[in-house]
Amino acid sequence: MAQLELDAVRKVFTDDDGSDIVAVDDVTVDIEDGEFLVLVGPSGCGKSTTLRMVAGLETASGGDIRLGGRSIVGQKPQDRDIAMVFQSYALYPHMTSRENMSFGLEESTDMTDEEIDERVQNAAELLDIPELLDRKPAELSGGQQQRVALGRAIVRDPEVFLMDEPLSNLDAKLRSQMRTELQRIQEDLDTTTVYVTHDQTEAMTMGDRIAVLDGGELQQAGTPLECYHRPANRFVAGFIGEPSMNFFDATVRGDRLVADRFEYGLREAAVNDVAGAEGVTLGIRPEDVEVTPGTEPADDNEFATVVDVVEPMGNENAVYLGFGADPTDPFVATVGGMRRVEAGQRVIARFPPDAIHLFDATTGEALHSRSLEDADPAEPRI
Ligand code: ATP
Repeated sequence: MAQLELDAVRKVFTDDDGSDIVAVDDVTVDIEDGEFLVLVGPSGCGKSTTLRMVAGLETASGGDIRLGGRSIVGQKPQDRDIAMVFQSYALYPHMTSRENMSFGLEESTDMTDEEIDERVQNAAELLDIPELLDRKPAELSGGQQQRVALGRAIVRDPEVFLMDEPLSNLDAKLRSQMRTELQRIQEDLDTTTVYVTHDQTEAMTMGDRIAVLDGGELQQAGTPLECYHRPANRFVAGFIGEPSMNFFDATVRGDRLVADRFEYGLREAAVNDVAGAEGVTLGIRPEDVEVTPGTEPADDNEFATVVDVVEPMGNENAVYLGFGADPTDPFVATVGGMRRVEAGQRVIARFPPDAIHLFDATTGEALHSRSLEDADPAEPRI
């Protein structure tokens, strides 16, 4: 086990017409010994390229990658003590699960047959697949094949696991089950892991920390809750969370925000945080928008709105709201699933001042984040 350090890592590809594509732009992140780091971001943001540079499948154009304090940049992939799991399971079709798992060890180590057998058996038990060891891939479901692929990485007992969207070929239910199981396995093994996904739910639920990439650049590295409640910029705020945070462009006028469809009264802390900024973006998460029946706003944190669409999800309803009678450009609030809300209903939407985020309209940088002080201390810890 070891700490993995990415130090200003960069990758520039050259296009067919000779122009440069900066796929990864000076990414610096330290992954602690035993840590589970999720690299997350939209398609094309440089996640796989970053992972492939760590594996040695791609040569870095700049920066350094250190494992246990030693640079591995010049090492061949097979000399790096790293095991990679891909989205495609890439199992040998003519081999049984047992042979698929043991093959790498037979080829690249001088372990005895007994030692290899023991490792395969232990990994199979960890993955709950001992009864599948004598089956070939064609006789296994997708989820079972992915377990064998994981087993093949686990038997190597590497310093680092690299996983590139390993669950994306599975159906939603199995994916959620495998997410929990992978976390348990990673905790049991305590092996430093970098896991790539474009799925923010996977990132939020699996990572000790997440590193959010966009356009090849690291936007934020932090715990899932830090990224959720204290996003470094508008990109992270919009990427993490489902449904996404609502955004409204506005101008600062003293202690007021003037947006297209409303004006909003700021508290002192927010006024101080936006001092000097003219254009800002107001952000509020759907679960923070309070929806109550009525037509008369009580203060300048409330607005008269009309329900445009209601999407019932069972546990909650996503309620799309428009300002005034013409619900163009709706924003979304989530309310309890048992609440009765109907399209066309007139309601008051409140943006609690403690819950708002403010971003610089030009750079997207966070100027003010929601307060976490209103978390109820009386709520029992579990
Ligand atoms: P996805 O989630 O779609 O797999 P990603 O975040 O993993 O995306 P990468 O595959 O790392 O993104 O690609 C990052 C950028 O580098 C993209 O713009 C991609 O087109 C470009 N790129 C990747 N590999 C090459 C290559 N071999 N030659 C040229 N450009 C490449």
